[in-house]
Amino acid sequence: MTPTSGKPLTLITGGTRGIGLAIARELGNRGHRVHICARTAQDITDTLGTLREEGIEADGAPCDVRDPAQVTRLVQDAVDRHGPITVLVNNAGRTGGGPTATTTDDLWYDVIDTNLNAVFLVTRETLRHGHITATAHPRIINIASTAGKQPVTLGAPYTASKHAVIGFTKALAKELAPTGTTVNAICPGYVHTPNTTRIHHEYATAYNTTPETILQHFQTQIPLGRYTTPEEVAALAGYLTTATAASITAQALNVCGGLATQ
Ligand code: NDP
Repeated sequence: MTPTSGKPLTLITGGTRGIGLAIARELGNRGHRVHICARTAQDITDTLGTLREEGIEADGAPCDVRDPAQVTRLVQDAVDRHGPITVLVNNAGRTGGGPTATTTDDLWYDVIDTNLNAVFLVTRETLRHGHITATAHPRIINIASTAGKQPVTLGAPYTASKHAVIGFTKALAKELAPTGTTVNAICPGYVHTPNTTRIHHEYATAYNTTPETILQHFQTQIPLGRYTTPEEVAALAGYLTTATAASITAQALNVCGGLATQ
């Protein structure tokens, strides 16, 4: 392990686009060194170039968070290059659903592997070898979803995975409380990301309508009448890393325009 530059190190899974990229920017601009991963090597290279041009100290490597060996390498690599991990953001995730009767084993297991089992793998590795609990303001932030609190129609695997992430978050928060490490979930509602367009097309096919109609339908369900932005989700992650957020733990906090009320 090398000495740090004095900046806290934040490890973000799925940092190349959408919410993960917005969190990388937010924490980078708050003075963190960020270390990102995703499966697509070229996206890592491009994203690091963009973040560095913006003045952010960014590093990263390709990693499929479903694979325990790759997760081990990711954490070891981050620690070897930059020192202890102060903040872990488990953001990588995927959608997935459809009628349960026709849901394949592959789809079910991949959604659970990506959204739940990977959160466990990366967290465990960070606790074992990331030295996180020895840092000044240790934080674990899991990007769950309002689907972790209320069901998404035709989204049973996704809903199950996000409910489980919230359960994991709360149990881990109690476990780590004596170390001063806070563990929270952020629950976005509908957020405009590259993912969103695909979801609109999937629902349009399922309901035999257009993606535009699906977007309008979703928007009418949101009291504020609009999608949340990735930056609005990232801002809460940023706040959770501050010293004054030290008393917030074991929570699942919504950023959803009023879509969920609990
Ligand atoms: P995107 O699809 O836009 O980005 C996902 C990121 O995760 C990419 O960087 C992707 O890169 C990476 N990723 C996906 N699978 C893996 C994997 N197996 N290993 C490593 N990296 C992976 O997603 P969003 O920004 O929309 O979502 C981010 C998180 O927020 C997810 O957990 C999602 O469930 C949650 N969320 C999103 C909402 C939304 O409306 N967008 C609403 C509520 C929650 P690559 O493909 O190259 O691996």
